Amino acid sequence: MGQTTTRQAHISWRSPKTERRATPPYGDGLFAAQKIAKGELLAVWGGVIVSTAELRSLPQYVQDRAIQVEEDHHLCSGQIDDDADCVNHSCNPNAGLQGQITLVAMRDIEPGEEICFDYAMSDGDPSYYLPCQCGDSQCRHAATGNDWMLPELQERYKGYFSPYLQRRIDAQHHR
Ligand SMILES: [Zn+2]
Repeated sequence: MGQTTTRQAHISWRSPKTERRATPPYGDGLFAAQKIAKGELLAVWGGVIVSTAELRSLPQYVQDRAIQVEEDHHLCSGQIDDDADCVNHSCNPNAGLQGQITLVAMRDIEPGEEICFDYAMSDGDPSYYLPCQCGDSQCRHAATGNDWMLPELQERYKGYFSPYLQRRIDAQHHR
């Protein structure tokens, strides 16, 4: 431990148009600090890749900020407390995935709005369960690893699912 150099405390990127704010009682969230146009890049996540079994053995706070990127592969940032990892779930989100590790605006976002995506776009592990109280009229009261199967979500989030989930959806429709 002879190193005294302070390393940079992030491995992901977030748009400079965003800022991190506390969202009690659920930790922190990412908010628009200025107007953001539909299609703009909001975050690009980095980290280490672990299997589902490895992820389940990690501390809860690491699991809470991980994202599934492939069948049995998850991206997580371990001990690093990264602003870009603080994007909360909503059942009526303003952001969606573009590929596995990139978050984009699904519509124009006004300053002060919290940036959220629907974890149905990324989480496909059947054991995944997150209670939701987002308060939206479309709230499902939970985000689960089976939500990608819901036809209305497949329609609403077309083009915004993680590629491995889009492959599952395509396979479902070509059976
Ligand atoms: Zn909800």
